[in-house]
Formats: sequence, structure tokens, C-alpha cells
Amino acid sequence: MRINETDKLDFRNVWVVADLLVGKIQSVTHELIGSARNLADLRGSEVWVIVMGDAVSIEASSLFAYGADCVVAIDDPLLKNFVDELEANLLTRLIQKYKPEIVLCAATARGRALIPRVSVMTDCGLTADCTELSIDPENGDLLQTRPAFGGNILATIRSSNHRPQMASVRPRVMISPEPDFSRTGNVIIESIQESDLCNIKQVVEVVRDLEYSANIADANIIIAGGRGMKGAEGFELLKQMNEYFGGAVGASRAAVDAGWIPYSHQVGQTGQTVQTSVYIACGISGQIQHLVGMQSCDLIIAIDKNPNTPMMQMADIAVVGDIFEIVPEIIHELRSAQP
Ligand SMILES: Cc1cc2nc3c(=O)[nH]c(=O)nc-3n(C[C@H](O)[C@H](O)[C@H](O)COP(=O)(O)OP(=O)(O)OC[C@H]3O[C@@H](n4cnc5c(N)ncnc54)[C@H](O)[C@@H]3O)c2cc1C
Repeated sequence: MRINETDKLDFRNVWVVADLLVGKIQSVTHELIGSARNLADLRGSEVWVIVMGDAVSIEASSLFAYGADCVVAIDDPLLKNFVDELEANLLTRLIQKYKPEIVLCAATARGRALIPRVSVMTDCGLTADCTELSIDPENGDLLQTRPAFGGNILATIRSSNHRPQMASVRPRVMISPEPDFSRTGNVIIESIQESDLCNIKQVVEVVRDLEYSANIADANIIIAGGRGMKGAEGFELLKQMNEYFGGAVGASRAAVDAGWIPYSHQVGQTGQTVQTSVYIACGISGQIQHLVGMQSCDLIIAIDKNPNTPMMQMADIAVVGDIFEIVPEIIHELRSAQP
């Protein structure tokens, strides 16, 4: 809501909206709590986590270990399956009741359906896909930094005249804190009210996307292919190589657009952001829209016949050559090394 300087003082604490998938709290929630902890410490305030689900209260109390001071738990069978309208109504009512200064949400499929609705209903702005969050010490404004103009510049956005200040962050952009299981905190139990219910949508059946089981955001090693893989058969080679690494297969948008691999594997600005220990880029030139999704990986290995691409230039290890000679050779070596 739009407010003046005096009313700003009514808004306190940094909220994190817990991200759940099939009833489980996702690791991005811990990452957001870590970021919220830093912001709250700068503001001398608390971190609250809002958990909306069915039978999640017990798991919710594990969030103190990551830096939460208070968990607001709403446990209800109606929240078993995600319905954006219901959760948006509920969250909006809680925001009006408790007046947080900052609300952080994951930029996941769930968060992207939820938080823009809430920002409209509370008459606030929303900065989506932030890569950095900090506080202006002068006035307490949230400094929300995100890539703009195709990733060519970083824009820092502030919502000086509105509270709460809302931002979403993609998984693996922030670092998850080491859990401290000796930490404790308060639990507030809230419930759904008549006014939160929506009659428009009803979940009839939940069908899981089997492709999603190869979730690249959760992998520790990614072997990614680009246009240089030449077709779906090329990706079969990468899948074979991945069997020895136990990671996930990623892709550039060019490969996804060509229909060689589903969108759930796309890395980059309009795909997923990943932060793996090892990222092996095969036939990906490394345009900025791809790099923004993987540049924080610990070890980047690139295979390309052109040594001058941005990916080859930024890689820790750059292998110059034909993928269709190098990858089969690697698979052969891995197979020979098997006991
Ligand atoms: C708004 C917007 C959003 C975008 N979002 C994304 C995004 O999220 N993710 C993304 O990836 N892209 C995104 N793009 C597209 C991006 O700009 C590039 O077009 C794309 O990343 C290029 O994919 P590529 O590297 O696979 O293909 P190319 O740039 O064509 O590179 C192919 C590479 O393969 C190498 N190669 C070819 N054959 C062989 C071989 N036999 N052996 C070895 N090397 C070989 C070539 O030398 C080349 O370096 C976006 C673009 C826009 C405008």
C-alpha cells in the first residue's frame, strides 16, 4: 500500500513465503531465510516465515535452524494442492494484519503464480528475479537488484513509497545458511477464514511432470548441451555421459526451441538459474542470457570447436574440439574405468 514516512514505522520484520512442492518445504526457502536474516539484522527486526500447506507445522519448525525467529503456520487440507487465489487471499489478509516491512518469495512456478497477485491485492510493487538484496542505511529501503535489458545491465530498484516491499528470488541465487539446530523461535498458528475461500478454482487432479524429476535446479552436476549438439540424438550422448555422473542434463534455449529437449531443462534468463559444483557446457556459445543462469557454478568446463566463444573464454577448463569426437571418448573412458 502507498504510505507516508510516519506510517512506514508501522511496518516491521522481514517475511519469507515458504515454497512447497508436493507438501515438502523446498530448499529455496532456506536460501531466502538466509537472505532475510541478513536484511533483518540490518533493520534490527525479525525473520518470519509463512508456511501454507497441509500437515506442515512439524516440518515448519525446522526453519528456525536456518535463521527464522517466527513461523506462521497455516495447516489445512484445503492447502494440500496449491491454489493461487486461496493462498493469495490468505497471504494478503496476513500482510494486512501483521504489516511486514519486506516480503520475499521464491521465483518458482508456485511463487510466480502467487506473489504477483498479492502485490496487486496489497497495492505494492514487486521486483521479480532479484539477484541481490540489501538495505539502504539512510531510510531502510530495500535495494532490489536484478538483471535488466537482456542481462546487459543490473538495475537496483526501490519502492520508497510503498510497504511492504516485495521481491522474488530464483532458487540457487542466494546461499543457504548452515543450519543451527539449537535455534528456536515462536510459532503462530493461523487458519483459513471464510473470506479467504475462492469458488472459482478447484484442483481436480494433480499430474506430476515426470521430466521434472530430473530437476536441474537440484542437481550438483549439470551436463548441458546447445545448438552444437545438432539434434535430440546429440542429447542422448549427454544423457549417456550423465549416467556416470548422476547429475542432470541442461540445455540452452536454442536446443529447447528446436524441440530437442523439454523446457524444464533450460538454463538461463528465461529458464532456470543453477549453481552446481560442476557445469559442463557442450556446444553452447555462452550468450549473456545463458550465462546469467549458470555463471555462479563452481567449476565450468566448456567443449566447443570455437575457442573464442564467451563460454570458452569464461570456462575454468576449455576443451577445443568436435563434441562428437570428445564426448564419446569421455564415455568410453568412464566405461573402462568402471569396476
Ligand atoms: C529475451 C531472451 C531471453 C533468452 N533466454 C535464454 C535462456 O534462458 N537460455 C539460453 O540458453 N538462451 C536464451 N536466449 C537465447 C540466447 O541469446 C542464445 O541465442 C542461445 O543461448 C544460443 O544457444 P547456443 O549457445 O546453444 O547456440 P549457438 O550460439 O548457436 O552456439 C552453438 C555453439 O556450438 C558450437 N558447435 C557447433 N557444432 C559443434 C561441434 N560439432 N563441436 C563442438 N562445438 C560445436 C559452436 O561453435 C557454437 O559455439 C534468450 C534470448 C533472448 C532474446
